[in-house]
Amino acid sequence: MLDGYGRNINYLRLSVTDRCNLRCKYCMPADGICKKQPDELLTEDEMITAVRAAASVGITKLRITGGEPLLKKNILSLCRRAAAVGGIREVCITTNGVLLDALARPLREAGVRRVNLSIDTLDAEKYRGITRGGKLEDALRGLHAALEAGFERVKLNAVLIGGFNDCEIGDLAALTRQYPVDVRFIELMPMPDSEIFGENAYLSCDAVLQALPELLPNGASGVAQLYRLPDALGDVGLIRPVSALFCASCSRLRLTADGKLKACLHSPDERALKGLSQEEMAQQMRLCIAHKPACHAVLSAEHRSQAGRGMYQIGG
Ligand code: SAM
Ligand code: SF4
Repeated sequence: MLDGYGRNINYLRLSVTDRCNLRCKYCMPADGICKKQPDELLTEDEMITAVRAAASVGITKLRITGGEPLLKKNILSLCRRAAAVGGIREVCITTNGVLLDALARPLREAGVRRVNLSIDTLDAEKYRGITRGGKLEDALRGLHAALEAGFERVKLNAVLIGGFNDCEIGDLAALTRQYPVDVRFIELMPMPDSEIFGENAYLSCDAVLQALPELLPNGASGVAQLYRLPDALGDVGLIRPVSALFCASCSRLRLTADGKLKACLHSPDERALKGLSQEEMAQQMRLCIAHKPACHAVLSAEHRSQAGRGMYQIGG
């Protein structure tokens, strides 16, 4: 369905939980989350009803996210049922990879076509620090399992943080020479729950181009500008939510685990879907698309996101 600015809204990001087994400093508060009551969250059936409603208004691509979606006990059943919904052509998942070792193959068999895996550093100590306790080896095991399970294209997401992983831009990008993966650098967004990293933490993706002058432009895919290292097996993607607003080409709706539909990541506006029938959900989705804002406000350390929620509660 087209929104009021002629954008084709065909992509739903469904956050299936706000819980996580990591506590990334840019995403979650140190003391974790305020646990929601089960009756505040969408049930599996309600999530599938929402996916059917979304398909009926023109959504063709679904990304399962969180929190950490692999913590969800019914994740395989959810993915299998979502992939079977008529009109949904692609089900993808974004995960920190920690539990992927055991789940990669079952997810592939459940109909998930693509996996995005978040790894910000290749240094085990730094990984433990940024995730507040995670083990890099678990995420790397997840990466290998994903490669072996035969997903269409594994993407690695790294949030670019000055003074933290800017010295690893070359090493992270070099993973595209070692494995058939895309590595995507994402600019740090000042979310309501992000730790204050200091004035040098935000780096525009220009830092990647400066660090790797050998990168050759290779087109664009969705919101990512693509580049390639000579002899690489995959692309280096730059995702610039801060330095280059991509609102003009935004095709997304978001649905949170507690059933709130968002037309814009950085807007506090939400519509409640919990308890609605499929047709009522579809009607809310049509209204949400019709009122999708043209653009969000410029983000900076002084002007934090107006999302009204942390990233773990929205799904990125
Ligand atoms: N737990 C999963 C993961 O980490 O991949 C899925 C949910 S996570 C919220 C989705 C994506 O959002 C991750 O790639 C993460 O790095 C990114 N993210 C979280 N907070 C962010 C922030 N403040 N700025 C930029 N990206 C952020
Ligand atoms: Fe968890 Fe993902 Fe947020 Fe890290 S980025 S705390 S893994 S939801």
